[in-house]
Amino acid sequence: MSYIETSTGKWEVVIGLEVHAQVISKSKLFSAASTKFGVSPNENVSFVDAALPGTLPVINSFCVDQAIKTGLGLNGRINRISRFDRKNYFYPDLPQGYQISQFYSPIISGGYVEIEDNEGNSKRVNIDHIHLEQDAGKCIHDQSPTKSFIDLNRAGIALMEIVTTPDMHSAEEAAFFLRKLRSILRYLKTCDGNMEEGSLRADVNVSVHCPNTDYGTRAEVKNVNSIKFLMTAVNFEVERQIAILESGEAVEQETRLFDSSTGQTRSMRSKENSQDYRYFPDPDLLPLMLEESRIEEIRKTIPELPDAKAERFQRDYNLSHYDASLITSEIEIADFYEKALESANLDNDSAKILSNWILSELFALFNKHGKSITDNHIPPEHMGELVKLIKTDVISGKIAKDILELMWDTGESPSTIIEEKGLKQITSAKEIEIFLREVLDNHSDKVADYKSGKDKLFGFFIGETMKKTQGKANPQVLNEILKKLLEK
Ligand code: ADP
Ligand code: MG
Repeated sequence: MSYIETSTGKWEVVIGLEVHAQVISKSKLFSAASTKFGVSPNENVSFVDAALPGTLPVINSFCVDQAIKTGLGLNGRINRISRFDRKNYFYPDLPQGYQISQFYSPIISGGYVEIEDNEGNSKRVNIDHIHLEQDAGKCIHDQSPTKSFIDLNRAGIALMEIVTTPDMHSAEEAAFFLRKLRSILRYLKTCDGNMEEGSLRADVNVSVHCPNTDYGTRAEVKNVNSIKFLMTAVNFEVERQIAILESGEAVEQETRLFDSSTGQTRSMRSKENSQDYRYFPDPDLLPLMLEESRIEEIRKTIPELPDAKAERFQRDYNLSHYDASLITSEIEIADFYEKALESANLDNDSAKILSNWILSELFALFNKHGKSITDNHIPPEHMGELVKLIKTDVISGKIAKDILELMWDTGESPSTIIEEKGLKQITSAKEIEIFLREVLDNHSDKVADYKSGKDKLFGFFIGETMKKTQGKANPQVLNEILKKLLEK
């Protein structure tokens, strides 16, 4: 357990998350309207979403399959019977006057996610349950000085609410959890995990207490939509709550807003209790009954998940635990890696080189261009070929970096670029010796200095020769020959 120490003693932090994950599906949870992002306001609104009188919800069975798949991927129990309830509240973006959710009997109970803390120890974050519910629409207040607008495109889209038990004890742990959860959902293809577009957002519950006392009163920070914000919000809450307790006052149970421009949270409303929502079973919907065979069919579609893949990469490709977990953190990187390996038929040694090149050089390129693996310009075949060319000494590692940039800019293969630019490495000892002799002849004074003990000049001769060959001389051969020539 990690503690926070202040002048008044030790404090323990407790965090539980309620994660809203938008289900990947073409249509909404109870209507046939499209879920497409980025269309004009109110383009994706059916009569059901607008809650016109006389319309009735019809459950989208694909969304149910997606929730089952998520439950299986997160080690949960799939409940053979679950029910939908009405959560009643008024808000302009909620035309029904209630949200259809699952309060009394959710579709998934239990489950866990395996995470790693900062010291590399693994621990489980338990999931209390996962329920299906509708998303609400959106109020727009910043388009006119006198009017507010309502966009119902999001209203009725299926969300999975994934509720953890209060198992996390630092901002870092919460970040590890959310990152891992996002990765698994993306592997499962049940949620795209796009936090910027709001497909994944978390309500963050935080409390503090002194060791060996009961858990403290929690505050819930709503709708946090990035991992960085999650950590900022937790740290802000921890400081705020400790300060309140230290001054002898009590933390209020309330719902708070996170302001990403200041990194602070502020009170939104005092926490409502579930009684306030007047939950009751939705009379328009029958209980959701699942056949065992349906669950088993879906079980067969669960792909190899990040932990299993990372273990296999360590075993098969000799990667370190750390590298394997980075390469498998996103399904697209793992796929890219294996396709590159396969296309260039790389051996174990090169498998490691390939992973280094992806984790350092390719990721540096992504950073430089503000891109990620999902908008990568380089096909895996080209990356595999590049590593093969390094491994077989056709090009030096240094030149390979320039080639990688050109691969990104032009979309051409490394061999085409090498051909066009004449970048092949010079490995012939004879050829290198010619360049070297020229350098030594031009700097006979320095050669004399070297021989009288100025060892550092060795690097100077190497540098000069590299310049002459435009970096193409094979460094090992160059070293050997220079040594020989200077001994004479
Ligand atoms: P509610 O439904 O009223 O929001 P729950 O008991 O279902 O309350 O808990 C909601 C979330 O709050 C869960 O993610 C849970 O892990 C978390 N939580 C509960 N107690 C605490 C606490 N003392 N400190 C931090 N988080 C907590
Ligand atoms: Mg809650």
